[in-house]
Amino acid sequence: MKQDVEIFGLIREELERQRRGLELIASENFTSLQVMQAMGNVMTNKYAEGYPGKRYYGGCEVVDKSEQLAIDRAKQVFGVEYVNVQPHSGAQANTAVMFAVLKPGDTILGLDLSMGGHLTHGSPVTYSGKIYQAHHYGVRAEDGRVDYDALEQKALEVKPRLIICGASAYSRDWDYARIRAAADKVGALVLADIAHPAGMIAAGLLNSPFDHCHFVTSTTHKTLRGPRGGIIMMKKDFENNWGAVGPKGETRMLSQLLDLAVFPGIQGGPLEHVIAAKAVSFFEILQDEYKSYAKQMQLNAQAAAEIFLNKGYNIVSGGTDNHLLLIDLRNKNISGKKAENTLVKADITLNKNMVPFDDKSPFITSGIRVGVPAITTRGLKEKDMTQVVEWLDKVLTAPDDETVIARVRGEVNEFMTAFPLYPEMA
Ligand SMILES: *Cc1c(COP(=O)(O)O)cnc(C)c1O
Repeated sequence: MKQDVEIFGLIREELERQRRGLELIASENFTSLQVMQAMGNVMTNKYAEGYPGKRYYGGCEVVDKSEQLAIDRAKQVFGVEYVNVQPHSGAQANTAVMFAVLKPGDTILGLDLSMGGHLTHGSPVTYSGKIYQAHHYGVRAEDGRVDYDALEQKALEVKPRLIICGASAYSRDWDYARIRAAADKVGALVLADIAHPAGMIAAGLLNSPFDHCHFVTSTTHKTLRGPRGGIIMMKKDFENNWGAVGPKGETRMLSQLLDLAVFPGIQGGPLEHVIAAKAVSFFEILQDEYKSYAKQMQLNAQAAAEIFLNKGYNIVSGGTDNHLLLIDLRNKNISGKKAENTLVKADITLNKNMVPFDDKSPFITSGIRVGVPAITTRGLKEKDMTQVVEWLDKVLTAPDDETVIARVRGEVNEFMTAFPLYPEMA
């Protein structure tokens, strides 16, 4: 067959872009070479609808072992009894939990999108906001932290069936016990979506949601540094108490409801090649090096926060506990949109972001989100954060000065050659 030079040319181009740039998108990371190699394998050819040992197709003996390894390793990473590694993405993991425990029209309560929440936590443009009655809680104006008292008030008022915690642009740790206490007052279930901080939770650097939340979902490609995908976990399986019964009238355990919600509920055949790569990434997370990586992310984020603060930047909540910072640029006279578009010209990638109580639209925004997972994987340490923040500050304070932008781009490109990315790929 003829070689597709166009696509392989573009893959090459993307590799070069990733190599020369400073990657500060908080949800991105660089997988190891073996995680990537595991993703491009013959298991992509295999249909395996169902679960290990209970498939709808023949010839699943090998992928059964691989998927089981992924499950067992994830159980070990997080210390949980139940894992489903089939969700194609974080959004699918959340959809499956809601599909398993909610009926259309049920009430959910999640963090407001404009305060750091995720689309799938009830935004009206997603299934979660269209199929369910979605309500939201927020952060306090004074300190940018989740207002747990208001959350509880809202829960008492709207009586949600499911409370969702977790965020995409929130730099502080969560009080899962406090949320569970509020949920118990109204008989709500709790889902913790740890898509962002999962790696730091795995390394024991942040509060664990597992003892307090009925369900925990995550992506596998953010701080966990695995292939693009999702995962669902429960510390302990439990019986549903709303009459969901099996074909013989037997009570369904939540593990059964979740498995059925993923397949056949919302997905078809699992991506066994990606599941193999998830297994490899869990193997890596179980090594000591990963713990050092997670700690380094936290040190880098805290170092960057301090330097930004010294330069007069407004960090929402005043700092960070995890791997990201949310910066309110309103005192710097530049919108999030302009900041993103200007920085990319200097080969610095990050994203514009709403800040709490933003007066600009989601297309403009007043803020930017800065994350360190990818640069920490490249090998940058606390001492390098001075240089990183310096570059951002130079561009953000002279966004129309093409000479400054070009100079910073040159310096970034030169600097990044000291942190080789996929050197095995010539
Ligand atoms: C990134 C993210 C997701 C969605 O993950 P996808 O893999 O992009 O579907 C879900 N929830 C939160 C909190 C996230 O940050």
